[in-house]
Amino acid sequence: MPTNPATVPRAVAHLRWPVEPAQGGWYTEAEHKAVRRVLAESDDWRTGWKPATTTGVFEDAFAASTGTAHAVTFNSGGTALEMVLRYLQLMPGDEVISCAINFVGPHLAVIGQGGSLVLAEPDPLTLNLDVVDTERALTARTRAILITHWNGAAADLRPFLTLAERHPHPVHGPPRVIVDAARCCGGRTPSGRMVGAEGWATVFSFESKKLMTTFGQGGMVTTDDQTLADRLRTLRTYGGRDQWGTNQMMTKAQAAVGLVQLARLDEMNAARIDRAHRRTQRLARVAELALPPTWHDRQHLYYRHNLFVPASWAGDGRDKLMNVLAEQYGVGSVVSDPVTYLGHRLIRHRTTGQRCPRAEHLAARLLCPCLHPRMTPGDEAAICDAIRRATEHVARAHGTTA
Ligand SMILES: *Cc1c(COP(=O)(O)O)cnc(C)c1O
Repeated sequence: MPTNPATVPRAVAHLRWPVEPAQGGWYTEAEHKAVRRVLAESDDWRTGWKPATTTGVFEDAFAASTGTAHAVTFNSGGTALEMVLRYLQLMPGDEVISCAINFVGPHLAVIGQGGSLVLAEPDPLTLNLDVVDTERALTARTRAILITHWNGAAADLRPFLTLAERHPHPVHGPPRVIVDAARCCGGRTPSGRMVGAEGWATVFSFESKKLMTTFGQGGMVTTDDQTLADRLRTLRTYGGRDQWGTNQMMTKAQAAVGLVQLARLDEMNAARIDRAHRRTQRLARVAELALPPTWHDRQHLYYRHNLFVPASWAGDGRDKLMNVLAEQYGVGSVVSDPVTYLGHRLIRHRTTGQRCPRAEHLAARLLCPCLHPRMTPGDEAAICDAIRRATEHVARAHGTTA
């Protein structure tokens, strides 16, 4: 097995431009005001902190912004994913297909809800789930296809919806298309619809690093399925008197801030896209690096700015580049993300015998240097310069043959 890049130790404390774990948040006076308002109105024992009205307003605004009938808040994207999968009541042997390059969260949610995780390859350009490989992985036991809009590049969901219709489960009908949009909030898919509007259910995260954040934690599900929305609401509040449930509520203060962040989402995304496009332009002459393509049929939100080193640098050369960037230039970068089964032991155990060589190879060439909409032109120039120099440094040691 190749080395697991997630375990390569990298000191991040000294970095001038860090990536993980601490990044994110862009709050203005409007967010501060919203918090103060919630504080003032709740600081009365007769009112208290019950979130119902505020979260309801946030949910309605979110549903309207994505063009869906329902939006349901959760305390995190992880619990939201888990509850959507829980609704399916997966039985042993029921399969859920998902891309091998992924955040571990969606894969753990499948495992946690008793499903068999079936891994498929990514598209080499977008790292989104590959349609052809998904078709190969479909069986009569497939209950769901879990598609992550990878790093802000919205996937085209139409071919997956068609695939699902063509391969219905004998009991449950077409596999559900579940979308993980934790990294693509506010985006549009190639069909021109808002992320969140296509597929059976879409999960969003408002964790600190995400495109909008509700005090560093929070999640949302959008769906047009009234039955799913109703069940999700009872799952997060103790089962609504007749079924199992627990407490997974977002707080009132989070919802109040979420409402402001939602109104500012396009502005924040535009700033990020602008910085990403400038970075792509600035790095255009660095022959060793494959840059993210610029699409015209969809909006790429650049949750990350993906760079790929030459094949001959895969693994060691890429790690070296990340280390030089960090140690000599203070630029943090992250492999976003490694192949989940190499980085997480439980996922590896539950996918024994499955390999995705294309995903492994791409992940070994991938690095995502720090990008944030609040970076100044000076930050950006320094980071691009660092990437150029660090790449030259590694090229001298590794050669430049792709
Ligand atoms: C952040 C993230 C999640 C989980 O969201 P949390 O709110 O942190 O639980 C799920 N999937 C992807 C792709 C993510 O990036």
